Amino acid sequence: MKIKKIMGIAKDTLNFILEASRSTHPNEFVGLLQTEKEVIANIILLPGTISSNTSAVIRLEMLPMDLYSVGSVHSHPTQNKTPSLADLRMFSKKGDYHIIACYPYDEQSWACYDRLGNRRDIKVLNIKFDENEELLW
Ligand SMILES: [Zn+2]
Repeated sequence: MKIKKIMGIAKDTLNFILEASRSTHPNEFVGLLQTEKEVIANIILLPGTISSNTSAVIRLEMLPMDLYSVGSVHSHPTQNKTPSLADLRMFSKKGDYHIIACYPYDEQSWACYDRLGNRRDIKVLNIKFDENEELLW
């Protein structure tokens, strides 16, 4: 699969992730990341996602074959944002950008990893997409 270059994540999208993680706590929130104009801007919540307070599993077999995604996002109900072994297995299957948000789900409590589980820095971009999907700075 071709690895797409990403400029960063839209601030609104990051806020959505943190809000969803907060409201799902102590269970885990799981979704997939989609981009618009090279910016992570959409979260797809998956039907059939198994969520519990010990692990969250993305059921890749539930995905439509043509669904494009650059990676995944999920939350940890603890202050540990390090990927688990199960996370690393999942990371290697889909995309190259994987976000973990951890308790207490504030602006510092998240990290992004590549498909091997190495930390990668992505910028938080204060941009909005209008109805015509134009990029507005
Ligand atoms: Zn995890």
